[in-house]
Amino acid sequence: MTSAWEAIKALATGFATTFVHLFRKPITEQYPEYKRPLPARSRGRIILTRDPDGEERCVACFLCSAVCPVVCISMEAAEKEDGRRYAAWFRINFSRCIYCGLCEEACPTSAIQLTPQFEFAGSDIMSFVYEKEDLLVNHQGKDSHYNFYRYAGVTTRVGDKGEHVGEKEPVDIKSNLP
Ligand code: SF4
Ligand code: SF4
Repeated sequence: MTSAWEAIKALATGFATTFVHLFRKPITEQYPEYKRPLPARSRGRIILTRDPDGEERCVACFLCSAVCPVVCISMEAAEKEDGRRYAAWFRINFSRCIYCGLCEEACPTSAIQLTPQFEFAGSDIMSFVYEKEDLLVNHQGKDSHYNFYRYAGVTTRVGDKGEHVGEKEPVDIKSNLP
């Protein structure tokens, strides 16, 4: 059974804690007037970036679409005359996206990236369906140097076979014949 002394002690401890906090600097942040700078790796709105040559990075490989746990990415692949693949259309339904970042992890070209931007709430659910023109930006995002086609071993105007970074000369298969 609680004695009167223990009750007074508990009460005094509570008041002492309140008293200490009276003299502490408030840490309330007045959002949205003040917006705390978020780390570059925060997972918010998704963008499609370009490589340092200004070309679209996305090669429409479907890896992001395949890995997405809520199936909110869709696209159609197409190919240019120089052999570069691209997405004829690319769509993300942000009303389903859970900002897990798996699409960014899976992307071999560093095209799809999550950004710290999280302020795009709305009441019209269809406004959360973003098309390629809404997603494609004119910069490289977090990865300022990477150009997939400089490593890919695919002949494009970036380079022929054997000319890419760290790539060996192609083997003449006829030289292996007896
Ligand atoms: S962040 Fe996750 S849920 Fe959103 S599009 Fe990428 S893989 Fe899908
Ligand atoms: S964004 Fe990346 S993973 Fe998705 S289709 Fe384009 S290249 Fe492939």
